[in-house]
Amino acid sequence: MNVPFVDLHAQYLRIKAEIDQAIASVIENSAFIRGSRVEAFEQEYAQYLGVEHCVSCASGTDALYLVLKQLGVGPGDEVITTAHSWISTSSMISQVGAKVVFCDTDPGTFTLDPAKARALITPKTKGIVPVHLYGQAADMPRIMALAEEYGLWVLEDCAQAHLATCGGRLVGTFGQAAIFSFYPGKNLGAMGDAGCVVTADGDLSERIALFARHGGKGTHSIEGVNSRMDGLQAAILSAKLPHLAQWTEERRQIAAHYDSLLAGVPQVRTPRIAPGRDHVYHLYVILSERRDELRQFLKSRGIATALHYPTILPLLPAYARFGHTEGDFPVALGHQTGMLSLPMYPELQEGQAAYVAAAIREFHQA
Ligand SMILES: *Cc1c(COP(=O)(O)O)cnc(C)c1O
Repeated sequence: MNVPFVDLHAQYLRIKAEIDQAIASVIENSAFIRGSRVEAFEQEYAQYLGVEHCVSCASGTDALYLVLKQLGVGPGDEVITTAHSWISTSSMISQVGAKVVFCDTDPGTFTLDPAKARALITPKTKGIVPVHLYGQAADMPRIMALAEEYGLWVLEDCAQAHLATCGGRLVGTFGQAAIFSFYPGKNLGAMGDAGCVVTADGDLSERIALFARHGGKGTHSIEGVNSRMDGLQAAILSAKLPHLAQWTEERRQIAAHYDSLLAGVPQVRTPRIAPGRDHVYHLYVILSERRDELRQFLKSRGIATALHYPTILPLLPAYARFGHTEGDFPVALGHQTGMLSLPMYPELQEGQAAYVAAAIREFHQA
């Protein structure tokens, strides 16, 4: 049996008629840039999440940049973020001229440890960027309380966590603003790059939209950048949005299946979910002390796995200037060496998940 890591084509086949129709209508109307499809998606997504404003843009990475820029972050400022994420989270902090301050993670949840964040706050700290990594919410009540205590803003990176909740509340609704990515492999994915910012702050959303669209078409009240979601992506996302809850449920069922099948394998730790939080399983990440050998073995059985991410952010060459050492981030480093992402997508069959679990069991019994 071959088990791919993800299968985007399987999702397309389930809703092919809807997608094809959405694409055709954009082409028929030449609604390529801006226009009704983009505005419709912005409204639908804001309503779906129960947030006031949604500003679409070209990618999740751009969304981070646009928010940071309009929050007024720049040289001399420090922004705290997690040591364990995709590089966009930290690279955009640097791109606006601020200093990234990396914080270690919480054992098992892979998310920023609020207690450790407190120790990193200085008079230069302006905000915190927590990431709901793999689809599990970060500890938002504690992060928000910390931010309030020190007068900091919070920007949630929800790129991997569409529909995840914390204390029953959707991620993306806690901080001053939040970003989402619609990269094809994300839980809600376009067929190209796309992203958005959501916020309750009308003034912030207006400034972000203005900045992202050349400072206003024709008026150019400020200098901006060009960061747009195109009409095709918006139409595709609108077609997919009504299915997101069902797909999320299917991800959870597969995760529950893996959980129970791997429960009897003491050498493997299945994802740990903190009380009051939930998980939308963008990724299903286990911890194993023999990770590299296990990965090799699974590959020999036709099972594709992945590492998210092979090196934690502070130890990447891109951050050599900070001179961080492995000892600075003991928890994240432990995760770096042990984590392994198993195949996970809504269309993964129960039999495939069982095959993966059986192979993991076999490896440890050998
Ligand atoms: C995917 C991702 C991003 C960036 O999104 P793009 O749309 O690919 O630019 C940012 N942060 C995290 C945690 C991500 O997983």
